[in-house]
Amino acid sequence: MSNTTFEEVGRVLSEHHQFAVLGHVRPDGDALGSQLALGLSLRKLGKNVRIWNEEGMLEKYSFLPRGELLTKPPATEEHVDVAIALDTAIQNRLGTSLAAIGSAKIWINIDHHLTNPGYGDLVIIDPSAPATAEIIFRLIKSQRLPFDHDIAENLFAAISSDTGSFQYPKTSARTLEIAAELVRAGDLDVGKISQQLYENYPRRRLELLRELLRTMRFSESGRVATFGLSLRTAGELGVIPEDNEGLIDHLRAVRGVIVAVFFEELPDGKVRISMRSKDERIDVSAICQTFGGGGHTLAAGARVLGTLAQVEQKVLEEIDEAVKRAGLS
Ligand code: 5GP
Ligand code: MN
Repeated sequence: MSNTTFEEVGRVLSEHHQFAVLGHVRPDGDALGSQLALGLSLRKLGKNVRIWNEEGMLEKYSFLPRGELLTKPPATEEHVDVAIALDTAIQNRLGTSLAAIGSAKIWINIDHHLTNPGYGDLVIIDPSAPATAEIIFRLIKSQRLPFDHDIAENLFAAISSDTGSFQYPKTSARTLEIAAELVRAGDLDVGKISQQLYENYPRRRLELLRELLRTMRFSESGRVATFGLSLRTAGELGVIPEDNEGLIDHLRAVRGVIVAVFFEELPDGKVRISMRSKDERIDVSAICQTFGGGGHTLAAGARVLGTLAQVEQKVLEEIDEAVKRAGLS
């Protein structure tokens, strides 16, 4: 399936009035920053814009400029001309935001997930982009859409967070050039943004990490590392979903580890799996797809029915196979 051009998307944006800019459930910095950046640009263009996420604005990202504009969707349906899904690999990961769209004349789908099937009328999927925000930047620039300091800061924070602070392999010269352009054009304070992103966690998050490290396991070969969180422990610590974003990086960072997995028991009888790879030969999005999930080659996830122990066993078997197939065991 081929992508729509930026020109075509730009034309649709200029020709309509009522917009909803949506992002995935359990949002990360890329989803929220991309939503705010595009939403702010459309507002400056004089459009009527709703910016909705199932969870509303997370405490952790509340420093993002104009973060108050990003709200939970209403309980009753609303009609818009154009609904835009950002950073959302499958449409139903829009959650209650999807339910709040009564109807839309046009759906636009902009994303960087390899596993995105291309739902919607106008589709731009670029799996080479390390963040959806990089695609939003190129859209805004190429179509000369409104741009200002607040838009720049949202895009920079989104790109920084989805590249693990410009570390992950998809961070390219283009990514760094875009980052530089954002810093220059928006006169951004990189140190301050980074502190808000990486040095402003509640103490609770470290207490959670302590519990996760207690459950840490390595496979015999040392290639696979896991930890898990039961509902009970989560309840005792009072953790909220946003607390665990990024903790899996501690497992991936261990020498010799190729695949890291985080198992999180959910209240609905499912287990959320969050998976990372350090080697292109192990495609964790393919492994997660066998469990109904998806994502990127090196970072993916799924929600699987079963107890922690059951899901852990099934998933570890699948990983074991993949490691063997790649000749890495
Ligand atoms: P995380 O482990 O940080 O939650 O997610 C890693 C990547 O996998 C993200 O890009 C996310 O969009 C994707 N992902 C996580 N969970 C799911 C899921 O249940 N289904 C699909 N399709 N993608 C997921
Ligand atoms: Mn993303």
